[in-house]
Amino acid sequence: MEETKRLFKKLKITTILELALITPTSYNDTTLSSEIIPSKIGTFEAIVKEVESIGGKLRVSFWLSAFHQPLYATFFRTTPYHYGLFRVGSVHIIQGRVEVYHQMLQMSQPKSLKEIGKITPKYKTVLKESEMRALMETYLHRQNLLREGLNQSEAEKIIAIHFPPHKEAILDASGLRLEMVETLKFVEALNHLKKLRTKRVNYPAIRALNGDTSPFLERLPFALTSEQNQVIDAIRLDLAKSHKAAKRMVVGDVGSGKTMVILASVMMALPHKSILMAPTSLLALQLYEEACKYLPPTISIALAMQSRAEGNFESADFVIGTHALLYKEHLPEVSLVMIDEQHRFGTQQRQQLEALSNAQEGKRTHTIQFSATPIPRTQAMMDSELIDVSLITTTPFVRDVTTISISKPDFGKLLGHISLEIEAGHQVLVVYPLVEESDEVPYQSLEESRGFWEKRFEDVYVTHGKDKNKEDKLLEFRQKGKILLATTVIEVGISLPKLTLIIIVGAERMGLATLHQLRGRVGRNGLKSWCYLYSHSTPNERLREFADTTSGFDIAKLDLKFRNSGDILDGTIQSGQRFRWLDMAEDEAIIAKAKERLNVSIR
Ligand code: ADP
Ligand code: MG
Repeated sequence: MEETKRLFKKLKITTILELALITPTSYNDTTLSSEIIPSKIGTFEAIVKEVESIGGKLRVSFWLSAFHQPLYATFFRTTPYHYGLFRVGSVHIIQGRVEVYHQMLQMSQPKSLKEIGKITPKYKTVLKESEMRALMETYLHRQNLLREGLNQSEAEKIIAIHFPPHKEAILDASGLRLEMVETLKFVEALNHLKKLRTKRVNYPAIRALNGDTSPFLERLPFALTSEQNQVIDAIRLDLAKSHKAAKRMVVGDVGSGKTMVILASVMMALPHKSILMAPTSLLALQLYEEACKYLPPTISIALAMQSRAEGNFESADFVIGTHALLYKEHLPEVSLVMIDEQHRFGTQQRQQLEALSNAQEGKRTHTIQFSATPIPRTQAMMDSELIDVSLITTTPFVRDVTTISISKPDFGKLLGHISLEIEAGHQVLVVYPLVEESDEVPYQSLEESRGFWEKRFEDVYVTHGKDKNKEDKLLEFRQKGKILLATTVIEVGISLPKLTLIIIVGAERMGLATLHQLRGRVGRNGLKSWCYLYSHSTPNERLREFADTTSGFDIAKLDLKFRNSGDILDGTIQSGQRFRWLDMAEDEAIIAKAKERLNVSIR
């Protein structure tokens, strides 16, 4: 047992399924060859006809009985063992690469085999061949594999990979047979899910929450989409439990209407308190305004920011704030903690946020997080082992955004289009890769270009990540600006309803998730909008596919596809675990099967 532990540790594995996933890199086959194929490895029965020693080398002339042909073998590294072994007249099974020289068959340093008809897997690991064999023999048997959750046929395939009866059972011309690969994918998914499942810790909630949402829903000027309703229903079930504090992540595209889910949750928490954290004051302010607009007037709402405070923080039913909230000495006792745009918080802040949900006696508040970074459905299926995940894949408006890739020669036409939009009372956003000039980036920076825009257009606003007045400027621009020049700072989810045209400079340098977030800035209220991807390197396959894809969830899938092909990406999407067999873009069905298996075996 100790020994196994040590070997598993060396292999960096912890489970039997992971052992099963260490597949042989090749198979040593000692089946006699049925034909002689030059430059391939062959295995033959051979009789020694003549032995010669020339200058330390040993030359053995064999007779291949099955083929009635001679074969000349040379041994460069010889030991007395070799001389004793190859006596004239003795019969051997030799194995080596066949070469043809002057029309004669040759083989250098062939092996003399003791057995024939055996297929031995070769593993490339830090362990010795014999240690590896021993591990496989000890652990990879049917009973163990069934206990790990595989069915008969999957267990048989895994056993065949490690103990093949003959090569054809596992290999075909292209390598491992498809059904073997499918099984390995399944094993990989199952193993990963099992490990995640053991990591999830559930805590009791402070209390169950059962507030009525109808006073809020009845006042809404629109009907919720069916996905919004589904998420709200899921949260209702979560919050109604007291033995288990809710831990849910709501992932929805930009503009999918997550705020309504937040407000409905506030209603459910009543008469107890909720708190909502936003990554920026601008966003907090916007959420505060929306809460005031849509929640019934009987509900007291407070805004708590460094720069501004509204309402009574101590007594409010619903407190909205930024991470400044974390430093407040006396937070009122809340029963529901919500975090908007959670992907915008740093790791350290997330840990602090976690502390917000701690209550007395090991209990936790219910916690719901919201993220606008779409994750592939496959990723959501995996993640949901740790945290419940709800996806919102539709938006309440049909958003009409046309995406167009352009480069230098198209710039004149683009200026014409910009003027038209401004005349129509709309707004334009230009996103630059950098604030200041850099040798590394072959595009104009924000500072280099601003003169150009200011000369040609009125009401040009400029802001970027390090701009101290960023939030004020954005608010002013929302009121009366025409053109906004910015860096990707604008990514944070503030809404600019009149924005109908966005130009992303150096688009090929950005990750698809970022591009998608940026594109989500326009057409928020259903106005016909355009997203121009400006790039020196068009045509670009990745941008072309991006232009044709509108759903964030499909973008996430695209991202997986191009990620594998090595594009520059900004890592906005957490790539999570890397898999050897499983393809997160394609193998949804396999992951679903693994999840189902796990649920069945647990019940
Ligand atoms: P998100 O936070 O998911 O990016 P928001 O919650 O800000 O999106 O919603 C985007 C816009 O859609 C807001 O103006 C909001 O009032 C509006 N909205 C939300 N749900 C609906 C709905 N069911 N029908 C019509 N408009 C909606
Ligand atoms: Mg939002």
